[in-house]
This record gives sequence, structure tokens and C-alpha cells, in this order.
Amino acid sequence: MSIPRFWREIRQRYKGIGVECGNCGRVYFPPRAICPRCRRNSLGKMNELEISGRGKVVSFTEIHDPMPDFKMLAPYIMVIVEMDEGVRMTGHLVDVEPDEVESGMKVEATLRKLGEESPSGIIYYGYKFRPCR
Ligand SMILES: [Zn+2]
Repeated sequence: MSIPRFWREIRQRYKGIGVECGNCGRVYFPPRAICPRCRRNSLGKMNELEISGRGKVVSFTEIHDPMPDFKMLAPYIMVIVEMDEGVRMTGHLVDVEPDEVESGMKVEATLRKLGEESPSGIIYYGYKFRPCR
């Protein structure tokens, strides 16, 4: 990801800000400028919405051979989560054993350090999911 794009998106990523279409009520994360369903009817009606961070697992995969940036984390679990707001998010699932993961499991998003961008040493953060206990 390029640096300008990173800075543009950091606020949304940090706070879990999505948008809700004022026309049809659909929620999008990351935020979109217009609703792909309503198109011009949604212009100027996309309202910021804080995502609660809670949802349930709809699908999961155990990754054994990840991209170089995530090598130290392998094996890890990628999940698709349907948030309480209805939007789907993809992310890592942590604090759980692989054989404990199942569809429908309740999870919550948590802010984690994802890595450091060298050589500048910028630390970037993102969300990960963990089971609701
Ligand atoms: Zn819409």
C-alpha cells in the first residue's frame, strides 16, 4: 500500500468507521463515496457510522503459507465475519486454537499492531478478530 493512501485511510481503519447509505440503509466498510446499489440516489447521503466490531464467523481458512509480510504469524486463521451492522469484513482471527473455530462463532474486532514498514519504521495498525468470551 502506498504511503498517501495509508494516511488517507488511517482514521477509518483506526476507529472502524464505515458508511451507511441514507437511501437503502446498507453499510459499507471500508467507506465508499456512493452506494453501488443506489448509485446517484445515494449521492450526498452516505453517512459515517462507527462499526461496533461485533459479529459472527461466516467462513474461515487456516493459512500455512502466507505472504512474506505475515510469515512470522503462520499458521494463522483468516475469517470472513458478518458484522452486527450487516457488513462483511475479512481479517485474522487470533487468541483461538484452529480446532475451536466454527461457523456462527461470535467474534469481536480488536486493534492490533500489524507490522512495521521498513526502513522508515512506520508502525501500522489494523483490526484482528478474537472470540467473544
Ligand atoms: Zn443504497
